[in-house]
Amino acid sequence: MRTSKLLTILALAGALSAFSSFAAAKTCSVEIAGNDQMQFDKTSIAIAADCTEVELTLKHTGKLPVTAMGHNWVLTKTADFQPVATAGASAGPANNYVPKDDARVIAFTKLVGGGESTSIKFSTSKLEKGGDYTFFCSFPGHWSLMKGKLTFGG
Ligand code: ZN
Repeated sequence: MRTSKLLTILALAGALSAFSSFAAAKTCSVEIAGNDQMQFDKTSIAIAADCTEVELTLKHTGKLPVTAMGHNWVLTKTADFQPVATAGASAGPANNYVPKDDARVIAFTKLVGGGESTSIKFSTSKLEKGGDYTFFCSFPGHWSLMKGKLTFGG
């Protein structure tokens, strides 16, 4: 009798801890905009430590077409940013100016033109707390201006 009650309590505790780890999943939304002046509206993005997933929305608030003033949002370690931006230019517009299957690319959106927007989701399991990350637009010539720092967990 006592044993079965104890087992019930243990089973309940197990269920609760499974539930709390599920409840800890947290999607954090981030919005960033690019314009016809080749600028992002943010130079830094801070992702809180308890975010397990990021939903990033990129809006192009300008009017110019994607071929003339396309913007995307690419995330790499800061050390990888310039080599990836250079490789992205070679990858061309069919690949959104992002090197294909490149492990240095943590996340990226497609290219958008004026008036368009796009969203992606990525897991923060790819980010180290306190790591040094840079986001940028990989459209040729844009990354020197369109870039910023991303931090995870301060
Ligand atoms: Zn751009």
